[in-house]
Amino acid sequence: MANNWPDARRSELLLKKEEIKARLKRITANLRRGYEADSKERAKQLEDCEVVDALGNAAKGELEKISATLARIKTGEFGICIDCGMPIDKGRIKVYPYALECIDCATMNEHRQARP
Ligand SMILES: [Zn+2]
Repeated sequence: MANNWPDARRSELLLKKEEIKARLKRITANLRRGYEADSKERAKQLEDCEVVDALGNAAKGELEKISATLARIKTGEFGICIDCGMPIDKGRIKVYPYALECIDCATMNEHRQARP
């Protein structure tokens, strides 16, 4: 099996990171414009700000996930389940590159969360 597989994921993640950074920049620019608004339109703009803020938080959360995944690629832990240590299915990683657990452990954890 070719060992460049994590490298391919790495390039994808780096691209995605740049995309999200650009998105965050736009979101921040929008926020700043909102703060400069005059009081007449303030209510409406504050509303927009909340939406923009939520978008910004989502983007930041995704950036953190990408950084964590890149770190795992570096240490060679990428694609290994943190719970059982078995390789994570590649199909799963393709759909969700930030996956930390194999599908079995993820399913089990979901069940555990559903039934505390
Ligand atoms: Zn597992």
